[in-house]
Amino acid sequence: MTVIRCIHTEDICRLDALIRGCRTVTVAAHTHPDGDALGSTAALVCYLRNLRGKDAAAVLPDTPSSTVRPIIPEGVPFLFFDAQPDACRRRIAGSDLVFLLDCNGFSRTEGLQESLGASPAPKVLIDHHLHPDAGRFDLVFSTPEISSASELLYYVLVALPDICGDARRLPPESARALLTGMTTDTNNFANSVYPSTFRMASDLLEAGVDRDDVLSTLYNQYRENRVRAMGYLQHENLRITPEGLAYMIVTRAVRERFGLEDGETEGLVNVPLSIGRVKMSILLKEEQDHFRVSIRSKKGWSAQQLAASRFHGGGHENASGGKLFWPADIPAPEDAPAFLEHISRECLS
Ligand code: 5GP
Ligand code: MN
Repeated sequence: MTVIRCIHTEDICRLDALIRGCRTVTVAAHTHPDGDALGSTAALVCYLRNLRGKDAAAVLPDTPSSTVRPIIPEGVPFLFFDAQPDACRRRIAGSDLVFLLDCNGFSRTEGLQESLGASPAPKVLIDHHLHPDAGRFDLVFSTPEISSASELLYYVLVALPDICGDARRLPPESARALLTGMTTDTNNFANSVYPSTFRMASDLLEAGVDRDDVLSTLYNQYRENRVRAMGYLQHENLRITPEGLAYMIVTRAVRERFGLEDGETEGLVNVPLSIGRVKMSILLKEEQDHFRVSIRSKKGWSAQQLAASRFHGGGHENASGGKLFWPADIPAPEDAPAFLEHISRECLS
């Protein structure tokens, strides 16, 4: 069986005991859930319901975008705080075990933060980001040296006595959701791939997951408008500084012109990295009083440091995110290009 360094036998025994002793479980993840957040929460909820007979549900800060929503298997209970705040609060208050997946602490759960923090239930963190807020949890599985929360959860689940290293014992919905989450976080095996990632993928394919169908669900179901908007942004909007910072800005006007929905620009930030002289790529998305910021970098340039030092954020070494507020960080949204050009001169020269 593949050994992941942060997974210790004592912790697996403790996790198994916590699951045995509970009835109602909340599985939470980060705001603006991506494929890894949805895949990992869906996989754990299905495992807890189908194999352990628990009343488990996923509780997320906000409704997933239409591009990743199909990741949630039919019939699996998911609650979204932006749509059903009271149901989410009741669910968390009534749970006697809480999991947090794919984020390093409750601060990334926006509206759920208060209820999760106030819950007296034991709390388990399963995550692959830097700097886990370990003190807030009773049990922590955390390493940045893995592709995704879905991969880490896979190795936790197969270490449990009822699975005992045999992926074929996982509920089929869990197996598929785990492969899906890992596929999205690695950008289909392009980044953050480790030997353990290929082993997990092999195990899950042997267990019967239909990878062609997973890829089709993820990458062949977009709306035409999304593809046209991608073309427009790359042709008309992309700027590259002399130092090698590429940036695109999805303003409200661009969103309205193409009828873009939240989540439809997913993946766009990676595209400029294919240009030889680009070291780092930034995508800004305009919101009410801030831009949401996505950063990707090539090896040797730290997206994580830039996100933490300039955009109130964090993430992984080469894939991070954060926010840029006005008037706190820049006087007005129109000043974003000048801000980015300044950062480029300071950080990439
Ligand atoms: P994305 O660019 O795909 O939205 O996010 C890339 C990575 O950065 C993800 O691992 C995500 O968890 C992290 N990230 C995105 N936004 C934030 C943020 O506002 N704060 C922190 N700490 N991490 C973020
Ligand atoms: Mn992730």
